[in-house]
Amino acid sequence: MPASESSAQTTPAERRVLDALDETALVETLVELVRVPSVTGTDAESELQHTMARWLEEAGLEVDLWALDLDDLRSDDEFPGTEAPRVEGHGVVGTTPGDGEPALVLQGHVDVVPVGDVANWPDAQPFSARIAGGVLHGRGACDMKAGVAVNLAVARALHRSGVRTERRLALHSVVSEEDGGLGAFATLRRGHRGEAAVITEPTSGRLVTANAGALTFRVEVSGRAAHGSTRHEGVSALEAFWPVHLALRELEARRNTDRDRLFGDNPLPYGISVGTVHSGDWASSVPDLLAAEGRMGVRLGEDPALARAAFEDAVATAAAADPWLREHPPRVTWPGGQFASGRLPDGHPLAGEVADAVQALTGRRPAEAAAPYGSDLRLYTGVGGIPTLHYGPGDVRLAHAPRESVPLAEVVQVARALALVAARRLGAH
Ligand SMILES: [Zn+2]
Repeated sequence: MPASESSAQTTPAERRVLDALDETALVETLVELVRVPSVTGTDAESELQHTMARWLEEAGLEVDLWALDLDDLRSDDEFPGTEAPRVEGHGVVGTTPGDGEPALVLQGHVDVVPVGDVANWPDAQPFSARIAGGVLHGRGACDMKAGVAVNLAVARALHRSGVRTERRLALHSVVSEEDGGLGAFATLRRGHRGEAAVITEPTSGRLVTANAGALTFRVEVSGRAAHGSTRHEGVSALEAFWPVHLALRELEARRNTDRDRLFGDNPLPYGISVGTVHSGDWASSVPDLLAAEGRMGVRLGEDPALARAAFEDAVATAAAADPWLREHPPRVTWPGGQFASGRLPDGHPLAGEVADAVQALTGRRPAEAAAPYGSDLRLYTGVGGIPTLHYGPGDVRLAHAPRESVPLAEVVQVARALALVAARRLGAH
């Protein structure tokens, strides 16, 4: 027991659960998880879901493993959208035996984003799960194989401890979080629910109780082709795009003027960012088409339809003020991920329960915050109606980057805190 840990704050049953948490197995599981290159939509992602199902069964949970009905999900009115090519996907939910709605859901996604240029990785090995100085490196280390390993460790600790529980724990393992949340959506559509949920995405020790949303947009602007030597006879689609881009900057500034206090000192929680620009097909031609794709932040509590309308209005207003664009209006579409914002209902006890557990084990009370990125949280709070927060190991600023890593001490600390939350919520005795 760490010096700061007070036995006065935990019951004997809770201490049995904490004592049963196998830290060695936790790290070994994390290594195994990172070594599977489960990039969104790949065969490895499916392989890992089958491994998860086996591990959950071994931890004494009743497992629902199913193949997603992709056609059915895509035709659903609330389908969240996807970006990665996908021919199959699997859902996995494990629930401790018993009756009734689970008192707690622990959720994690097994998919990871691609590694980019392998040469940027230490030893050119993004999936080595190398451990150095107490830090594990690799794609998915913090986003979010560490969180998935934590969820498993909590289920295993409850099982190994032999404590009896009044209520049930559910563990949701999902795919496709990185490209829109299809896996979470499918899990909820299958009817899996719980009284409250913790998604163990990386939060750097904070409780993230709200997420901004994110919408993928595409803007196409037309020009008029001409030979580059007589460019005055053409209209460059690239130059026609400039006033549109300026309008998006102004829209972004307007949308970030009054921010929720949960965002702290973040100056731009609702960023609008153009990620790709394609224009032209020949060096000595004036380009007659430009297509720009990017992401737009959705404000807390804002209907994504209103965010889309604000974007389309800003583009239309810029076009109306421009002689060429007035005659050739830009076209706005919304392909790919469409993440609404989401938040834990004000005053819900879950945030206090997690904070109490962290404080009992570390002596420090975690801060509450909102995150500017979209996640499965909005599907759990929205489609699922499940009060949900994020609390998990690692720093999200390292996610999606070649230096992605997670400190193992933090992984263990989060696992212990969530084991205590689970023991309390489930009524361990
Ligand atoms: Zn993630």
